[in-house]
Amino acid sequence: MGKLAAFGGPAAVPRNRRRVDWPVIEDADRKAVIDALDGGRLVSNTDGTNPVSTLEEHWAHRFGFEHCVAVSTGTAALSLALAAIGIGPGDEVIVPALSFIATGLAPVHQMAVPVFADIDPVTFNLDPNDVERRITPRTAAIIPVHLHGAPADMDRLISIARKHSLAVVEDAAQAPGATHRGRSVGGIGDVGAFSLQTTKNIPTCGEGGLLVTSDAELAQSMRRGRQFGEVIESGRERDYVSYGLGWNHKMNAVQAAFTDAQLTRFDDYECARQRNITEFLARLAMLPGLQVPTARPETTHVWHILRFRFDPAAFDLDPVRSEALRSTLRRLLRAEGVPMSQYQLMPLPDQKVFVDRIGFGAGYPWSVIGTPEPVKDSDYPVTRTVIADSLTLQKRHLHPGSGDLLCRYADAFEKVWANADLVTTLVAAAS
Ligand SMILES: *Cc1c(COP(=O)(O)O)cnc(C)c1O
Repeated sequence: MGKLAAFGGPAAVPRNRRRVDWPVIEDADRKAVIDALDGGRLVSNTDGTNPVSTLEEHWAHRFGFEHCVAVSTGTAALSLALAAIGIGPGDEVIVPALSFIATGLAPVHQMAVPVFADIDPVTFNLDPNDVERRITPRTAAIIPVHLHGAPADMDRLISIARKHSLAVVEDAAQAPGATHRGRSVGGIGDVGAFSLQTTKNIPTCGEGGLLVTSDAELAQSMRRGRQFGEVIESGRERDYVSYGLGWNHKMNAVQAAFTDAQLTRFDDYECARQRNITEFLARLAMLPGLQVPTARPETTHVWHILRFRFDPAAFDLDPVRSEALRSTLRRLLRAEGVPMSQYQLMPLPDQKVFVDRIGFGAGYPWSVIGTPEPVKDSDYPVTRTVIADSLTLQKRHLHPGSGDLLCRYADAFEKVWANADLVTTLVAAAS
Protein backbone atom coordinates (compact mmCIF):
# COMPACT_ATOMS: atom_id res chain seq x y z
CA MET A 1 0.00 0.00 0.00
CA GLY A 2 1.77 3.17 -1.21
CA LYS A 3 2.12 6.19 1.01
CA LEU A 4 -0.25 8.93 -0.13
CA ALA A 5 1.35 11.94 -1.82
CA ALA A 6 -0.65 14.21 0.49
CA PHE A 7 1.46 12.74 3.33
CA GLY A 8 4.82 12.88 1.61
CA GLY A 9 4.70 9.73 -0.55
CA PRO A 10 5.61 9.78 -4.26
CA ALA A 11 2.76 11.00 -6.48
CA ALA A 12 1.10 8.39 -8.70
CA VAL A 13 1.25 10.81 -11.64
CA PRO A 14 4.80 12.21 -12.03
CA ARG A 15 4.91 15.99 -12.40
CA ASN A 16 6.49 15.90 -15.85
CA ARG A 17 3.69 13.65 -17.14
CA ARG A 18 0.75 15.82 -16.12
CA ARG A 19 0.52 18.37 -18.90
CA VAL A 20 -1.86 17.73 -21.79
CA ASP A 21 -2.70 20.26 -24.49
CA TRP A 22 -6.22 20.60 -25.82
CA PRO A 23 -7.10 21.19 -28.58
CA VAL A 24 -4.49 19.16 -30.42
CA ILE A 25 -3.13 21.61 -33.02
CA GLU A 26 -1.33 20.12 -36.00
CA ASP A 27 0.14 21.54 -39.20
CA ALA A 28 -3.08 20.66 -41.04
CA ASP A 29 -4.98 23.04 -38.71
CA ARG A 30 -2.42 25.82 -39.20
CA LYS A 31 -2.57 25.38 -42.95
CA ALA A 32 -6.37 25.44 -42.93
CA VAL A 33 -6.36 28.74 -41.04
CA ILE A 34 -3.78 30.30 -43.39
CA ASP A 35 -5.70 29.08 -46.43
CA ALA A 36 -8.83 30.71 -45.02
CA LEU A 37 -6.97 34.00 -44.55
CA ASP A 38 -5.54 33.84 -48.05
CA GLY A 39 -8.80 32.70 -49.63
CA GLY A 40 -10.50 36.08 -49.33
CA ARG A 41 -13.87 34.65 -48.27
CA LEU A 42 -13.80 35.75 -44.67
CA VAL A 43 -17.50 35.98 -43.88
CA SER A 44 -20.33 33.49 -44.18
CA ASN A 45 -22.55 35.79 -46.24
CA THR A 46 -20.24 35.80 -49.25
CA ASP A 47 -21.79 34.29 -52.33
CA GLY A 48 -21.06 30.66 -53.11
CA THR A 49 -18.73 28.28 -51.30
CA ASN A 50 -16.66 29.61 -48.41
CA PRO A 51 -15.02 27.97 -45.37
CA VAL A 52 -18.22 28.39 -43.34
CA SER A 53 -20.48 26.73 -45.90
CA THR A 54 -17.87 23.98 -46.33
CA LEU A 55 -17.89 23.22 -42.62
CA GLU A 56 -21.72 23.18 -42.62
CA GLU A 57 -21.69 20.67 -45.43
CA HIS A 58 -19.04 18.42 -43.85
CA TRP A 59 -20.69 18.49 -40.42
CA ALA A 60 -24.07 17.54 -41.86
CA HIS A 61 -22.50 14.80 -43.95
CA ARG A 62 -20.39 13.28 -41.16
CA PHE A 63 -23.23 13.05 -38.64
CA GLY A 64 -26.19 12.53 -40.97
CA PHE A 65 -27.99 15.86 -40.56
CA GLU A 66 -30.03 17.42 -43.36
CA HIS A 67 -29.34 21.11 -42.74
CA CYS A 68 -26.53 22.76 -40.81
CA VAL A 69 -26.23 26.46 -39.98
CA ALA A 70 -22.96 27.74 -38.49
CA VAL A 71 -23.14 30.48 -35.87
CA SER A 72 -20.87 32.41 -33.51
CA THR A 73 -21.28 30.34 -30.29
CA GLY A 74 -23.25 27.48 -28.81
CA THR A 75 -25.19 29.98 -26.72
CA ALA A 76 -26.20 31.93 -29.83
CA ALA A 77 -27.19 28.61 -31.40
CA LEU A 78 -29.60 27.80 -28.56
CA SER A 79 -31.15 31.27 -28.67
CA LEU A 80 -31.54 31.21 -32.45
CA ALA A 81 -33.12 27.75 -32.30
CA LEU A 82 -35.72 28.93 -29.78
CA ALA A 83 -36.36 32.07 -31.84
CA ALA A 84 -36.85 30.05 -35.03
CA ILE A 85 -39.33 27.77 -33.29
CA GLY A 86 -41.28 30.82 -32.18
CA ILE A 87 -40.57 30.73 -28.45
CA GLY A 88 -41.41 34.10 -26.91
CA PRO A 89 -42.96 36.04 -24.01
CA GLY A 90 -45.31 33.98 -21.86
CA ASP A 91 -43.73 30.67 -22.86
CA GLU A 92 -42.09 28.26 -20.47
CA VAL A 93 -39.14 26.12 -21.56
CA ILE A 94 -38.13 23.07 -19.53
CA VAL A 95 -34.39 22.69 -19.01
CA PRO A 96 -32.33 20.43 -16.72
CA ALA A 97 -31.31 21.71 -13.28
CA LEU A 98 -27.80 20.41 -13.99
CA SER A 99 -26.22 21.99 -17.06
CA PHE A 100 -23.99 24.80 -18.17
CA ILE A 101 -25.53 28.23 -17.52
CA ALA A 102 -26.14 28.88 -21.25
CA THR A 103 -28.94 26.29 -21.33
CA GLY A 104 -30.85 28.28 -18.73
CA LEU A 105 -30.10 31.68 -20.24
CA ALA A 106 -31.25 30.84 -23.79
CA PRO A 107 -35.00 30.90 -23.01
CA VAL A 108 -34.55 34.23 -21.21
CA HIS A 109 -32.93 35.69 -24.34
CA GLN A 110 -36.28 35.01 -26.05
CA MET A 111 -38.23 36.47 -23.12
CA ALA A 112 -39.37 32.99 -22.14
CA VAL A 113 -39.11 31.54 -18.64
CA PRO A 114 -36.78 28.60 -17.98
CA VAL A 115 -38.46 25.94 -15.84
CA PHE A 116 -35.93 23.58 -14.30
CA ALA A 117 -36.44 19.84 -13.99
CA ASP A 118 -34.44 17.36 -11.93
CA ILE A 119 -32.01 14.83 -13.39
CA ASP A 120 -31.39 11.10 -13.48
CA PRO A 121 -28.77 10.01 -10.88
CA VAL A 122 -26.84 7.82 -13.34
CA THR A 123 -26.96 9.65 -16.71
CA PHE A 124 -27.15 13.15 -15.11
CA ASN A 125 -29.68 14.04 -17.82
CA LEU A 126 -33.31 15.22 -17.62
CA ASP A 127 -35.56 12.91 -15.62
CA PRO A 128 -38.59 12.47 -17.93
CA ASN A 129 -40.93 11.95 -14.95
CA ASP A 130 -39.96 15.27 -13.47
CA VAL A 131 -40.27 16.93 -16.90
CA GLU A 132 -43.84 15.68 -17.11
CA ARG A 133 -44.67 16.97 -13.65
CA ARG A 134 -43.52 20.47 -14.62
CA ILE A 135 -45.59 20.84 -17.79
CA THR A 136 -48.19 23.64 -17.63
CA PRO A 137 -50.45 25.16 -20.29
CA ARG A 138 -47.62 27.64 -20.95
CA THR A 139 -44.93 25.02 -21.63
CA ALA A 140 -43.76 25.40 -25.23
CA ALA A 141 -40.47 23.51 -25.47
CA ILE A 142 -38.02 21.16 -23.78
CA ILE A 143 -34.24 21.47 -24.02
CA PRO A 144 -32.71 18.06 -23.33
CA VAL A 145 -28.98 18.43 -22.69
CA HIS A 146 -26.73 15.50 -23.57
CA LEU A 147 -24.61 16.31 -20.56
CA HIS A 148 -20.98 15.21 -20.41
CA GLY A 149 -21.43 13.42 -23.76
CA ALA A 150 -24.19 11.01 -22.67
CA PRO A 151 -27.40 11.09 -24.72
CA ALA A 152 -30.52 12.05 -22.77
CA ASP A 153 -33.49 9.66 -22.65
CA MET A 154 -34.77 10.78 -26.06
CA ASP A 155 -37.35 7.97 -26.36
CA ARG A 156 -39.32 9.23 -23.40
CA LEU A 157 -38.63 12.93 -23.91
CA ILE A 158 -39.77 12.87 -27.53
CA SER A 159 -42.92 10.97 -26.60
CA ILE A 160 -43.71 13.46 -23.82
CA ALA A 161 -43.10 16.32 -26.27
CA ARG A 162 -45.44 14.77 -28.87
CA LYS A 163 -48.15 14.14 -26.29
CA HIS A 164 -48.11 17.79 -25.15
CA SER A 165 -47.21 19.37 -28.53
CA LEU A 166 -43.89 20.73 -27.33
CA ALA A 167 -40.86 21.59 -29.44
CA VAL A 168 -37.57 19.84 -28.64
CA VAL A 169 -34.26 21.69 -28.94
CA GLU A 170 -31.32 19.41 -28.16
CA ASP A 171 -28.38 21.00 -26.41
CA ALA A 172 -25.66 18.79 -27.87
CA ALA A 173 -22.79 21.15 -26.98
CA GLN A 174 -21.02 18.39 -25.05
CA ALA A 175 -21.93 15.49 -27.30
CA PRO A 176 -20.98 15.74 -30.99
CA GLY A 177 -20.77 12.19 -32.33
CA ALA A 178 -22.80 10.58 -29.52
CA THR A 179 -25.65 8.40 -30.76
CA HIS A 180 -29.06 7.31 -29.57
CA ARG A 181 -30.40 4.16 -31.29
CA GLY A 182 -27.82 4.74 -34.03
CA ARG A 183 -28.77 8.36 -34.71
CA SER A 184 -26.43 11.24 -33.95
CA VAL A 185 -27.68 13.42 -31.15
CA GLY A 186 -28.74 16.86 -32.32
CA GLY A 187 -30.75 15.33 -35.15
CA ILE A 188 -33.47 13.71 -33.04
CA GLY A 189 -35.49 16.72 -31.86
CA ASP A 190 -36.67 19.68 -33.95
CA VAL A 191 -33.31 21.44 -33.77
CA GLY A 192 -29.91 20.51 -32.34
CA ALA A 193 -27.32 23.00 -31.07
CA PHE A 194 -23.57 22.34 -30.88
CA SER A 195 -20.70 24.37 -29.47
CA LEU A 196 -17.21 24.49 -30.96
CA GLN A 197 -15.72 26.37 -28.02
CA THR A 198 -12.10 25.23 -27.52
CA THR A 199 -12.78 22.88 -24.59
CA LYS A 200 -15.42 20.86 -26.45
CA ASN A 201 -14.84 17.48 -28.12
CA ILE A 202 -14.63 18.99 -31.63
CA PRO A 203 -13.14 22.41 -31.05
CA THR A 204 -12.39 25.56 -32.98
CA CYS A 205 -9.57 27.99 -32.13
CA GLY A 206 -11.90 30.21 -30.11
CA GLU A 207 -15.68 30.34 -30.23
CA GLY A 208 -18.20 28.81 -32.57
CA GLY A 209 -21.52 27.00 -32.75
CA LEU A 210 -23.60 24.94 -35.16
CA LEU A 211 -27.33 24.35 -35.60
CA VAL A 212 -28.79 21.28 -37.26
CA THR A 213 -32.31 20.35 -38.31
CA SER A 214 -34.22 18.26 -40.83
CA ASP A 215 -36.76 21.08 -41.28
CA ALA A 216 -35.85 23.30 -44.26
CA GLU A 217 -38.01 26.18 -43.03
CA LEU A 218 -36.42 26.18 -39.59
CA ALA A 219 -33.00 26.11 -41.24
CA GLN A 220 -33.95 29.13 -43.37
CA SER A 221 -35.26 30.98 -40.36
CA MET A 222 -32.04 30.33 -38.41
CA ARG A 223 -29.98 31.50 -41.40
CA ARG A 224 -31.98 34.73 -41.46
CA GLY A 225 -31.63 35.06 -37.70
CA ARG A 226 -27.83 34.94 -37.82
CA GLN A 227 -27.76 37.62 -40.55
CA PHE A 228 -29.88 40.59 -39.33
CA GLY A 229 -33.07 38.91 -40.58
CA GLU A 230 -31.85 39.11 -44.18
CA VAL A 231 -32.12 36.46 -46.87
CA ILE A 232 -28.76 35.74 -48.49
CA GLU A 233 -29.12 33.62 -51.60
CA SER A 234 -26.52 32.35 -53.97
CA GLY A 235 -26.50 34.29 -57.26
CA ARG A 236 -28.73 37.09 -55.94
CA GLU A 237 -27.40 40.44 -54.85
CA ARG A 238 -27.83 41.28 -51.16
CA ASP A 239 -30.94 43.50 -50.84
CA TYR A 240 -30.51 44.68 -47.23
CA VAL A 241 -34.11 43.87 -46.33
CA SER A 242 -34.80 42.35 -42.91
CA TYR A 243 -37.67 39.91 -43.16
CA GLY A 244 -37.78 39.30 -39.41
CA LEU A 245 -35.92 39.87 -36.17
CA GLY A 246 -32.27 39.05 -36.59
CA TRP A 247 -28.94 39.25 -34.88
CA ASN A 248 -25.38 39.12 -36.09
CA HIS A 249 -24.53 35.59 -34.96
CA LYS A 250 -22.36 34.56 -37.91
CA MET A 251 -19.34 32.29 -37.65
CA ASN A 252 -16.11 33.55 -39.19
CA ALA A 253 -14.08 31.73 -41.81
CA VAL A 254 -11.00 31.14 -39.63
CA GLN A 255 -13.00 29.36 -36.95
CA ALA A 256 -14.77 27.31 -39.58
CA ALA A 257 -11.57 26.28 -41.37
CA PHE A 258 -9.94 25.20 -38.11
CA THR A 259 -12.90 23.03 -37.10
CA ASP A 260 -13.17 21.57 -40.59
CA ALA A 261 -9.54 20.41 -40.27
CA GLN A 262 -10.24 18.95 -36.81
CA LEU A 263 -13.30 17.15 -38.14
CA THR A 264 -11.15 15.10 -40.53
CA ARG A 265 -9.35 13.60 -37.50
CA PHE A 266 -12.43 13.19 -35.34
CA ASP A 267 -12.97 9.49 -36.07
CA ASP A 268 -9.36 8.63 -35.20
CA TYR A 269 -9.51 10.64 -32.00
CA GLU A 270 -12.87 9.18 -31.06
CA CYS A 271 -11.60 5.65 -31.58
CA ALA A 272 -8.53 6.26 -29.37
CA ARG A 273 -10.65 7.97 -26.71
CA GLN A 274 -13.15 5.12 -26.58
CA ARG A 275 -10.30 2.66 -26.04
CA ASN A 276 -8.45 4.77 -23.42
CA ILE A 277 -11.53 5.74 -21.46
CA THR A 278 -13.22 2.33 -21.43
CA GLU A 279 -10.04 0.76 -20.02
CA PHE A 280 -9.73 3.51 -17.43
CA LEU A 281 -13.36 3.26 -16.33
CA ALA A 282 -13.19 -0.54 -16.14
CA ARG A 283 -10.39 -0.27 -13.58
CA LEU A 284 -12.19 2.38 -11.56
CA ALA A 285 -15.45 0.43 -11.59
CA MET A 286 -13.73 -2.19 -9.40
CA LEU A 287 -13.36 0.26 -6.51
CA PRO A 288 -16.12 0.05 -3.88
CA GLY A 289 -18.34 3.11 -3.51
CA LEU A 290 -17.21 4.68 -6.78
CA GLN A 291 -19.93 5.23 -9.40
CA VAL A 292 -18.30 5.59 -12.81
CA PRO A 293 -20.04 7.06 -15.88
CA THR A 294 -21.67 4.47 -18.11
CA ALA A 295 -23.27 4.42 -21.56
CA ARG A 296 -26.85 3.16 -21.65
CA PRO A 297 -27.25 0.21 -24.04
CA GLU A 298 -29.19 2.18 -26.67
CA THR A 299 -26.57 4.94 -26.75
CA THR A 300 -22.93 5.72 -27.36
CA HIS A 301 -21.28 8.10 -24.92
CA VAL A 302 -18.54 10.50 -26.06
CA TRP A 303 -17.16 11.11 -22.54
CA HIS A 304 -16.84 14.90 -22.78
CA ILE A 305 -16.60 15.10 -19.00
CA LEU A 306 -16.11 12.14 -16.66
CA ARG A 307 -18.20 12.48 -13.49
CA PHE A 308 -17.57 10.17 -10.54
CA ARG A 309 -19.91 9.82 -7.57
CA PHE A 310 -18.65 8.68 -4.18
CA ASP A 311 -20.79 6.67 -1.78
CA PRO A 312 -20.09 7.55 1.88
CA ALA A 313 -21.38 4.10 3.01
CA ALA A 314 -18.40 2.43 1.31
CA PHE A 315 -16.17 4.43 3.67
CA ASP A 316 -18.35 3.69 6.74
CA LEU A 317 -19.61 7.24 6.67
CA ASP A 318 -23.08 8.68 7.11
CA PRO A 319 -24.72 10.07 3.92
CA VAL A 320 -24.61 13.59 5.42
CA ARG A 321 -20.81 13.35 5.15
CA SER A 322 -20.85 13.18 1.36
CA GLU A 323 -19.51 16.70 0.83
CA ALA A 324 -16.74 16.16 3.37
CA LEU A 325 -15.85 12.88 1.66
CA ARG A 326 -15.87 14.57 -1.73
CA SER A 327 -13.48 17.32 -0.59
CA THR A 328 -11.14 14.86 1.14
CA LEU A 329 -10.95 12.70 -1.99
CA ARG A 330 -10.41 15.79 -4.08
CA ARG A 331 -7.45 16.81 -1.92
CA LEU A 332 -5.89 13.33 -1.88
CA LEU A 333 -6.33 12.72 -5.62
CA ARG A 334 -5.02 16.15 -6.55
CA ALA A 335 -1.94 15.52 -4.44
CA GLU A 336 -1.40 12.35 -6.51
CA GLY A 337 -1.60 14.46 -9.69
CA VAL A 338 -5.20 13.79 -10.72
CA PRO A 339 -6.88 17.16 -11.43
CA MET A 340 -10.30 16.39 -9.96
CA SER A 341 -12.64 19.36 -10.06
CA GLN A 342 -16.27 20.30 -9.70
CA TYR A 343 -18.44 20.95 -12.73
CA GLN A 344 -21.29 23.24 -11.67
CA LEU A 345 -21.15 24.43 -8.08
CA MET A 346 -24.93 24.66 -7.75
CA PRO A 347 -28.14 23.68 -9.53
CA LEU A 348 -28.93 26.16 -12.32
CA PRO A 349 -32.07 27.45 -10.55
CA ASP A 350 -29.85 28.58 -7.64
CA GLN A 351 -27.82 30.86 -9.94
CA LYS A 352 -28.27 34.48 -8.90
CA VAL A 353 -29.66 35.52 -12.29
CA PHE A 354 -32.60 33.13 -11.79
CA VAL A 355 -33.08 33.62 -8.02
CA ASP A 356 -33.13 37.43 -8.33
CA ARG A 357 -34.79 37.27 -11.77
CA ILE A 358 -32.46 39.75 -13.37
CA GLY A 359 -33.50 39.75 -17.00
CA PHE A 360 -34.96 42.58 -19.02
CA GLY A 361 -36.45 45.81 -17.69
CA ALA A 362 -39.11 45.41 -15.03
CA GLY A 363 -38.51 41.75 -14.13
CA TYR A 364 -39.16 40.36 -17.60
CA PRO A 365 -39.63 37.65 -18.62
CA TRP A 366 -40.76 36.25 -15.27
CA SER A 367 -43.31 39.04 -14.68
CA VAL A 368 -45.09 38.05 -17.91
CA ILE A 369 -46.24 34.79 -16.35
CA GLY A 370 -46.92 36.12 -12.83
CA THR A 371 -44.88 35.20 -9.79
CA PRO A 372 -43.30 31.75 -9.98
CA GLU A 373 -42.60 29.95 -6.68
CA PRO A 374 -39.14 30.67 -5.27
CA VAL A 375 -36.74 27.70 -5.37
CA LYS A 376 -36.39 25.80 -2.06
CA ASP A 377 -33.36 23.87 -0.79
CA SER A 378 -35.44 20.71 -1.01
CA ASP A 379 -36.16 21.21 -4.74
CA TYR A 380 -34.10 19.25 -7.31
CA PRO A 381 -32.98 16.63 -4.76
CA VAL A 382 -31.09 14.48 -7.28
CA THR A 383 -29.20 17.44 -8.76
CA ARG A 384 -28.26 18.59 -5.26
CA THR A 385 -27.11 15.12 -4.20
CA VAL A 386 -25.04 14.63 -7.35
CA ILE A 387 -23.37 18.03 -7.00
CA ALA A 388 -22.56 17.23 -3.36
CA ASP A 389 -21.15 13.74 -3.86
CA SER A 390 -19.30 13.89 -7.17
CA LEU A 391 -16.18 15.23 -8.87
CA THR A 392 -15.21 15.42 -12.51
CA LEU A 393 -12.26 14.99 -14.84
CA GLN A 394 -12.22 17.42 -17.75
CA LYS A 395 -10.33 17.98 -20.98
CA ARG A 396 -7.11 15.95 -20.53
CA HIS A 397 -8.77 12.62 -21.29
CA LEU A 398 -9.99 14.03 -24.63
CA HIS A 399 -6.48 13.90 -26.05
CA PRO A 400 -6.13 10.70 -28.12
CA GLY A 401 -2.68 10.11 -26.62
CA SER A 402 -3.73 10.24 -22.98
CA GLY A 403 -4.06 6.47 -22.49
CA ASP A 404 -0.86 6.33 -20.39
CA LEU A 405 -1.94 9.28 -18.31
CA LEU A 406 -5.28 7.63 -17.58
CA CYS A 407 -3.44 4.50 -16.39
CA ARG A 408 -1.56 6.68 -13.90
CA TYR A 409 -4.84 8.29 -12.84
CA ALA A 410 -6.22 4.80 -12.21
CA ASP A 411 -3.10 3.99 -10.13
CA ALA A 412 -3.85 7.10 -8.07
CA PHE A 413 -7.47 6.10 -7.43
CA GLU A 414 -6.41 2.58 -6.46
CA LYS A 415 -3.79 3.96 -4.09
CA VAL A 416 -6.28 6.26 -2.39
CA TRP A 417 -8.84 3.44 -2.13
CA ALA A 418 -6.16 1.17 -0.60
CA ASN A 419 -5.97 3.80 2.13
CA ALA A 420 -9.74 3.80 2.70
CA ASP A 421 -9.39 3.61 6.51
CA LEU A 422 -7.27 6.74 6.46
CA VAL A 423 -9.84 8.47 4.21
CA THR A 424 -12.56 7.64 6.76
CA THR A 425 -10.44 9.00 9.59
CA LEU A 426 -9.68 12.21 7.69
CA VAL A 427 -13.35 12.80 6.87
CA ALA A 428 -14.38 12.12 10.47
CA ALA A 429 -11.72 14.53 11.73
CA ALA A 430 -12.94 17.22 9.32
CA SER A 431 -16.30 17.53 11.10
C1 LIG B 1 -20.47 24.91 -23.77
C2 LIG B 1 -21.93 24.72 -23.58
C3 LIG B 1 -22.87 25.63 -24.08
C4 LIG B 1 -22.50 26.95 -24.66
O1 LIG B 1 -21.64 26.93 -25.70
P1 LIG B 1 -20.73 28.22 -26.02
O2 LIG B 1 -20.19 27.91 -27.36
O3 LIG B 1 -19.69 28.28 -24.95
O4 LIG B 1 -21.61 29.42 -26.03
C5 LIG B 1 -24.21 25.33 -23.93
N1 LIG B 1 -24.60 24.22 -23.31
C6 LIG B 1 -23.74 23.33 -22.79
C7 LIG B 1 -24.26 22.10 -22.13
C8 LIG B 1 -22.37 23.55 -22.89
O5 LIG B 1 -21.51 22.68 -22.36
